[in-house]
Amino acid sequence: MTAPWIGAQLRQLLSQRGHAWLLHGPSGLGQYALGLGLAQAWLCDQPTADGACGRCESCHQVEVRAHTDLAVLMPETVMLELGWPLSEKAQADIDDKKRKPSKEIRVDAMRDALEFAQRTSGRGRGKVMLVYPAERMNQVTANALLKTLEEPPGDMRFVLATEAAHQLLPTIRSRCQGHTLTWPTAAEAQAWLQEQGVPAPAAEGLLRAAGGRPEDALRLHQAGLDAQAWARWPKALARGDGSALADWSPARIVESLQKLCHDLQAVQAGAEPRFFAAADLPPVADPAALGAWWRDLGATSRTVEHPFNAGLLLEDLVTRARTALNSRLQTR
Ligand SMILES: [Zn+2]
Repeated sequence: MTAPWIGAQLRQLLSQRGHAWLLHGPSGLGQYALGLGLAQAWLCDQPTADGACGRCESCHQVEVRAHTDLAVLMPETVMLELGWPLSEKAQADIDDKKRKPSKEIRVDAMRDALEFAQRTSGRGRGKVMLVYPAERMNQVTANALLKTLEEPPGDMRFVLATEAAHQLLPTIRSRCQGHTLTWPTAAEAQAWLQEQGVPAPAAEGLLRAAGGRPEDALRLHQAGLDAQAWARWPKALARGDGSALADWSPARIVESLQKLCHDLQAVQAGAEPRFFAAADLPPVADPAALGAWWRDLGATSRTVEHPFNAGLLLEDLVTRARTALNSRLQTR
């Protein structure tokens, strides 16, 4: 079931000509769903103005991830997460523990994609290459893609999706038509979350925790985040109680602290908080201390994937958070 704000954008893109689209904007708004929807519609035997029919042989092949005329170019970690099969060689290497799944789009995968570009279309409706997230290409893969974009085989179309368009080669950007993802309304996003099985009372809080990005909110729900617990932890932390954070991964803890620090700085500047209800925030602290805490969290976030000792890290993060949150008391 396509989310309504994705469906509207799909109709808009299909009504325009274009053989290469670059979908960009914040993650969590449905870039991948829109990119795949576009690819599926282009390949569908009986497409409508709304997109693919969902019933033909071509649509079936896309759904079972085995369409001969669709190449997806993604990091292996993303392919595994989204249920796309890896190449036989890549899968064998990972099964044999020769290496871990790659977080980048690998040169080998690009090589396969270039071979795909040279083949004739199997079903006669052209071919599509979906690249997501496009910023995960290195220089070698990006240059190879650029060549294909510059001289596309006649029946080939492209969808690139990224949350970091500024990291792409300018020459890649200029070869594509750009489309900025639009935000759903809060009502649309909450209705969609409920359709995905998120209980109504939790949907609003989870959406807030995700900064209004519905896919991120769903991921938080699937990771077991409780909306009420999310609302309660900032004030508890200001009292020095970091127990709510204890079950989270180090990366999640740092990201959540960044959200709290962001909101306190926003409130200080007279803006609305984004990730918490105003009533759930502790009193605003000393701006200088918040600024220092923000920089501190930024530095920690760059190394957090390999913490020396997760328990010590949590203790340290809670101590530093408490210091920043109570800084007003100390400076008076
Ligand atoms: Zn179809």
